[in-house]
Amino acid sequence: MANRVTVSSPTETLELDLERCNGYGNCVFAAPDMFELDLVSNLAVLLREDWSDDERATMAAAVADCPAAALRLVPREA
Ligand code: SF4
Repeated sequence: MANRVTVSSPTETLELDLERCNGYGNCVFAAPDMFELDLVSNLAVLLREDWSDDERATMAAAVADCPAAALRLVPREA
């Protein structure tokens, strides 16, 4: 669990599994406001502490574009 980082909107959490991330960088292209690639570790980095529900399509695109299945969206607990 220590290798999983998260950032949430009011309704969903975006999870990044650093064990799966292979540094392909697709997420950076899909959502440059949210992701950066660490050039030393070659792993994705979350740039923000939250996101809005209006940005869901962008986050969903990043999830869909990740070839390593390192990203997922999960509903927040009510
Ligand atoms: S697209 Fe997936 S594997 Fe590539 S850097 Fe982003 S999270 Fe990592």
